[in-house]
Amino acid sequence: MTSPSSRRRALVVGLGASGIATAIGLRRIGWDPVIVERAPGRRSGGYFVVLFGAGQAAARRLGILDAIPDRSPPGGITYTVDRAGVRKPGLGFGDLPVAPRMMLRGDVERAAFAALPHDVEIRYATTPTRIEQDASGVEVTLERDGESVTERFDLVVGADGLRSTVRRLVFGPHDRYLHRLGYMIAATTLPGPVGGLSPHEGAGLLEPGRAMWVFPFADHPPTVLFSYRTDDVDAEFTGRPVERVRAAYGPQPTGRLLGEALDALDAADEFLFDSVEQPRMDAWSRGRVVLVGGSAWCPSLYAAMGVSAGLAGADLLGSMLDRHPGDIRGALRAWEAQLRPHMSYYQANGVEQRYFVTPGNQRQIALRPIMARSLRLPVIGNALRSLRSGSKSIRQRELDIAHAG
Ligand SMILES: Cc1cc2nc3c(=O)[nH]c(=O)nc-3n(C[C@H](O)[C@H](O)[C@H](O)COP(=O)(O)OP(=O)(O)OC[C@H]3O[C@@H](n4cnc5c(N)ncnc54)[C@H](O)[C@@H]3O)c2cc1C
Repeated sequence: MTSPSSRRRALVVGLGASGIATAIGLRRIGWDPVIVERAPGRRSGGYFVVLFGAGQAAARRLGILDAIPDRSPPGGITYTVDRAGVRKPGLGFGDLPVAPRMMLRGDVERAAFAALPHDVEIRYATTPTRIEQDASGVEVTLERDGESVTERFDLVVGADGLRSTVRRLVFGPHDRYLHRLGYMIAATTLPGPVGGLSPHEGAGLLEPGRAMWVFPFADHPPTVLFSYRTDDVDAEFTGRPVERVRAAYGPQPTGRLLGEALDALDAADEFLFDSVEQPRMDAWSRGRVVLVGGSAWCPSLYAAMGVSAGLAGADLLGSMLDRHPGDIRGALRAWEAQLRPHMSYYQANGVEQRYFVTPGNQRQIALRPIMARSLRLPVIGNALRSLRSGSKSIRQRELDIAHAG
């Protein structure tokens, strides 16, 4: 048994799914994680996410799978809808052979948080401002309410998302690593069904370069996602987000569904508005500092794998540190070697699959039902394509990750 004085201490930056999962994994192998979170409290809700096989397997190993709800609505159906309100049967996640669980991002975080041992220290409203390391440890200055403390850790984990402060402090500025895909997204929870949809009905309104999706849930109001193409991401961050979104959908009459969804975005207290970007890095660790989740490999929402990948990466990190006692660098090298092929694959999917969520032109819109029928879903389509070309399918990759831990 490890004595308290010999226990290793890790700083985990970020209380998202990847950070909480990392802390669970570290605690399980006898480490003392300390979590710092920039926000003043734990967030809830969020947008629609699906959890595929790799994420479910990692969640099971982390002991949180049973606490993650599946909010797929019974009899759920997704339509493609135009502004005039004409509906055609669309493609729903419920049709998938890999049976993903559907939920809100906050559901995963809540389940993971509930599994976190009560004595794991969490400091809210706290962020790192300096990270320096030597051969035996990492010195981190943490700031809260204008006050700073400096502490020493054996390991620092940057689980602080796409615009990671840990990455900026240790690896370099955002623009060295972040690649813009040329799309903006906005997402929020709707007060209830919109545009005459029933609670179990979802919808996709697809126009060249812009799309709006409504996702229904069994026991929660639906959420909406707007996704549109832009040549000038910087301009999108000027002015009110909802005005940028309205402008992206043009001056034409919105029709009932789009109009009600835009009004709901306008009235929402909480919403997400952001550009779609991917970090691309040659290495996810430097010495005793490692990036996990969106900070390291965010595949983008178009891959629908960010949460799954974050849980799988966090879970594997604990396993690798356990397998390489006293050799943090060796553990991080082995961890990255195991994960990188999968994350590269998911990132490639995140770029390729943007057209399924947001078709670029009329031809892609017209072809979508045909492609959807033959491929069933982008991720599956890619899997079939990879199988045909002899490379590993996403399902096989999920199994590989699932068994790696
Ligand atoms: C619209 C949308 C739909 C998506 N759909 C899916 C899906 O279907 N399936 C799927 O698997 N993934 C999906 N994703 C991706 C998924 O949500 C992310 O990949 C995932 O949330 C990343 O988790 P994370 O914990 O790594 O980072 P985040 O969720 O970004 O969490 C980072 C945490 O760090 C905190 N933080 C940030 N900076 C600091 C700092 N300086 N100091 C302290 N704390 C800090 C933040 O407040 C936050 O709590 C979707 C994403 C979007 C935007």
